Amino acid sequence: MKRVHQRLLDWYETQGRHALPWRNTDNMYHIYLSEIMLQQTQVNRVRDEYYPQFLEKFPSLEVLAQAPQEQVLSAWSGLGYYSRARNLHKTAQIVQTELPKTQEELLKLPGIGRYTASAICSFGHEQAIPVVDTNIARVIKRYFALLEAKESLVWEKATPFVNAQAPRAHNLALMDLGSLVCLPKNPKCTECPLEADCLGKEEAELYTQRKKTVYESLDLFYGICIRNEKIALEISKEKMYKDMLVLPRVEPLEEDFLTVFKHSYTKYRLQVHLYKLEAVDENVLWVDIDTLEDAPISSLTKKALISLHLRAPLKPLVPLRGKKKR
Ligand code: SF4
Repeated sequence: MKRVHQRLLDWYETQGRHALPWRNTDNMYHIYLSEIMLQQTQVNRVRDEYYPQFLEKFPSLEVLAQAPQEQVLSAWSGLGYYSRARNLHKTAQIVQTELPKTQEELLKLPGIGRYTASAICSFGHEQAIPVVDTNIARVIKRYFALLEAKESLVWEKATPFVNAQAPRAHNLALMDLGSLVCLPKNPKCTECPLEADCLGKEEAELYTQRKKTVYESLDLFYGICIRNEKIALEISKEKMYKDMLVLPRVEPLEEDFLTVFKHSYTKYRLQVHLYKLEAVDENVLWVDIDTLEDAPISSLTKKALISLHLRAPLKPLVPLRGKKKR
């Protein structure tokens, strides 16, 4: 085991992604934020756009805890999976200044599951515990030849495999190995530091989970009502965009049709139809078009406004991808 650990660490030393900003900090809030953002969002987007922008607005847990929820959702705008932002905000309000240091305590906080709690404890506090995300799970399954293994078995196998002398580097090395070498298709076994002892290398693809995403097509109909440079928006109660500002839903009337565009959101493939709207509910919020930059609106709403030339894109509208890449 010692020999395998050393090979893995040597590989990480030269090939690991050491420059990622959340790997060069001991600020627990920064590590926690990166872990939440990296769930479902690609590393480059988090590193280049959302992580620095969010930290500029909310540099500490205290600042985040005191911010109104709409500001937090606005800063999350474009990242999708908005429950992550709501839970992050709730957690900040619970802990106020400092995150707990144990998995047990972390697991009691909103939006923190086994993976996130372990990542915070391992990457932030050097605790000798396993961290198992999608990439690490693939390496462990192949290395120990665990065919159709349940998640609990993967964690079980990963536990004694942890290098107690360097748990943080060990877990980060496995994460990078899964992301850069032990790929779902065509793993680069000849470049792998675990190759000599890997039990699954001959039939590596057998151990790759092939969960086929089932996409759902959906038509959505929204109304556009503008008065005195203000646009009518509603606070969404729907799970998808809960607490975000959204365009009012309408019954489609052919004579009021404006435009249609496609949008992807998680497993949904949406056709978004926009209609002129004359009369609106008295509960709508009239938002100044010039201040939309700071409003908690989703990529879908941004796209709708851009399609009508109501505003320029404020952040690049990269389609959301459901897959986790670390
Ligand atoms: S030898 Fe191949 S299959 Fe085994 S861990 Fe390395 S890259 Fe993955």
